[in-house]
Amino acid sequence: MRTDASASSPRSPLPSVDRLLGSPALAPWLDRHGRQACTQALRDTLDALRGELRAGAAPAPDATSFEGIAAAAGERLAARFAPRLQAVFNLTGTVLHTNLGRALLPQEAVDAVIEAMLNPANLEYDLATGGRGDRDDLIEELICELTGAEAATVVNNNAAAVLLTLGTLAVGKEVIVSRGELVEIGGAFRIPDIMARAGARLVEVGTTNRTHASDYREALGADTGLLMKVHCSNYEVTGFTKSVSDQEVAAIAHAQGLNMVVDLGSGTLVDMRQWGLPHEVTVRETLAAGADIVTFSGDKLLGGPQAGLIVGRRHLIARIKKNPLKRAMRVGKLTLAALEPVLRLYLHPEQLAERLTTLRLFTRQETEMQAQAQALAPQLQAALGSAYVVETAAMASQIGSGALPVESLPSHGLRIHPASGRQAGRQLLQLEAALRALPRPVIGRVQADALWLDLRCLEAPQQALFAAQLPLLAANIAGSRP
Ligand SMILES: *Cc1c(COP(=O)(O)O)cnc(C)c1O
Repeated sequence: MRTDASASSPRSPLPSVDRLLGSPALAPWLDRHGRQACTQALRDTLDALRGELRAGAAPAPDATSFEGIAAAAGERLAARFAPRLQAVFNLTGTVLHTNLGRALLPQEAVDAVIEAMLNPANLEYDLATGGRGDRDDLIEELICELTGAEAATVVNNNAAAVLLTLGTLAVGKEVIVSRGELVEIGGAFRIPDIMARAGARLVEVGTTNRTHASDYREALGADTGLLMKVHCSNYEVTGFTKSVSDQEVAAIAHAQGLNMVVDLGSGTLVDMRQWGLPHEVTVRETLAAGADIVTFSGDKLLGGPQAGLIVGRRHLIARIKKNPLKRAMRVGKLTLAALEPVLRLYLHPEQLAERLTTLRLFTRQETEMQAQAQALAPQLQAALGSAYVVETAAMASQIGSGALPVESLPSHGLRIHPASGRQAGRQLLQLEAALRALPRPVIGRVQADALWLDLRCLEAPQQALFAAQLPLLAANIAGSRP
């Protein structure tokens, strides 16, 4: 039976799909991807060639040979089977880059995830009693030890943590929040929207730049469910400002028998100043100030997998865990497998800056990055040729993901600008595209008419891989020229 009528046409210069499938040129592809995918790729290749022929084009003779068609089909197969989620070099200068997947996991976490992927695990099985367990039991004690909380639970991300907390503790009630904290986090996470979805009514108090304790007090009423504070993750209010401390808001809430919830966003477990980094309030400090519940992300400053941690008073955590939506937001075993060893690293603070990948990146020495830049600059210059000028340069990295939004870390890297001012904008776009088209795409940032490659996130073990693919740049740039 033939489904492809033109393939049997005696006038067609193209071989049939069946003959191609039986030819030695296709054998390696058949072996790798199977008959179904090969048939599809050959049909698509032949359709494209027929289109060219109909349009009056004369394809090169080798394009219509068995080998030529097999090679073209092979390209289609390679593209179709190439993974879509790819490793990239993050040279943007933003360490916790949400679009590039945020925190990189330490080896301990990677090993634990592999174990959990390949083997059954006691995810909800109590090994002591042989009875049913609770997946939170695997990490709750550790989280409590590290934060001083009475109890803890984990959900899919911090957005889910906020939604579940408000949807449990404030459903049908009013939640008082300062106007200066009604933030939008990237990717359309807006506190007012989450509040509405949680079934709580937002009561805004104060103004954008100034909120006083009396503003909170005056908003209290019979319908008040709780008071909430939100970390201003991605901006800073400066100048004529006033906000009310966690202690004060907690005291106002507690005087009415209400709870205070803090969405801490990044939520660090340790004082970052011990590594010379800017101060970010810790989860422990926030609880100690009187917060009844604190929520934070697993893959921001914590340096672990995507997750949302909810910590605080035991009876409140118990209510949150009973909410049926918890089931829809719970984490899987891979997340827990990764989270546990990351948390355990915090038990050994002296080694944390070396073993926790994110912290190691935040604390890299400028001189080390400078030496890398000096080694790589001539290699990149050679790869790019005379159309571009490559220089080493001091630059400033960001921690990212809303932590310390206006603080920057002194860093070093490469700055590339087109040699001539003519069409410099287009040349920069070509360069960016060529870097993205490398086997391991390189992502930098354009700033002040130059492309900046911040080397903070290129650690020594990856430098050789980075350098090895640079010679491919010239062809990529030539290929992207119109
Ligand atoms: C990042 C952030 C969130 C969202 O956290 P995800 O883990 O990305 O869901 C919520 N609130 C604040 C204040 C944040 O900084």
